[in-house]
Amino acid sequence: MAEDRKPDSSKKEEEQDRKIRLVPNKDEQYKPMKATITCGKCGKEWEAVLQPCVNISLHPDEKAKVLDGSFFHRVCPSCGETISVFYPCLYDDMQKALMIYLLPEDTEKALEALNAQQKNWSPDMLKAAKICKMRAVGSLIQLVEKIKIFDEGLDDRYVELTKPFIFAQFQKAHPEVEGIAALYEKQNGKNGYTIFCKDGKQFWAEIPEGVYEEVERIFKDEVEKKTTTEYEMIGPGWAHDKIATLMGKSE
Ligand SMILES: [Zn+2]
Repeated sequence: MAEDRKPDSSKKEEEQDRKIRLVPNKDEQYKPMKATITCGKCGKEWEAVLQPCVNISLHPDEKAKVLDGSFFHRVCPSCGETISVFYPCLYDDMQKALMIYLLPEDTEKALEALNAQQKNWSPDMLKAAKICKMRAVGSLIQLVEKIKIFDEGLDDRYVELTKPFIFAQFQKAHPEVEGIAALYEKQNGKNGYTIFCKDGKQFWAEIPEGVYEEVERIFKDEVEKKTTTEYEMIGPGWAHDKIATLMGKSE
């Protein structure tokens, strides 16, 4: 009926909204779930409510809680001990069109199951997924790394591809330690990596000027040739494969 028709402007907005609709509709929303938690200190069991999605566009205050880990803290009602509870949880930043799924247990299998669910997605969700950066990570430390990378306006794929080069350089300069992992970290306004060593020592290595851009130039075609609507694990394993592919091609 005529009375029910929306004014043109709001109709337009709605259409616009539909084009890049990143807000899941009602049945696609992530409902809080309950889980039984056992306190590691006193053994008390209780039922806690877990939020399977952090939408930092709708709840900006929750971003800091993810970054400092307190989003995953639960307090034992019996002894007051703070426990970190990790579970599958989606970090959703609509402004950046960024969705990062934390899959702390059996990450690869969980990721496969998650991507298989896409056949149940609405056309809107699939459309949104095409313009979204969709990532999967196995730990909070990796989730935090991703958030920091995208906060700096960098592309995590080139950050991962730059990592092995800086890591190798670092190892050459410090043969006395054994580096085991590197995580993106900005220090004094410069992009670089915190390098974790086997003996517990930590170092920070800068990405020299122009290196990230050079890596982007070399890998751009290989990295951006395919658009996927799946959650992807963009980490050292992924970078290793990409580098191997490109080196195989140049042989
Ligand atoms: Zn307790």
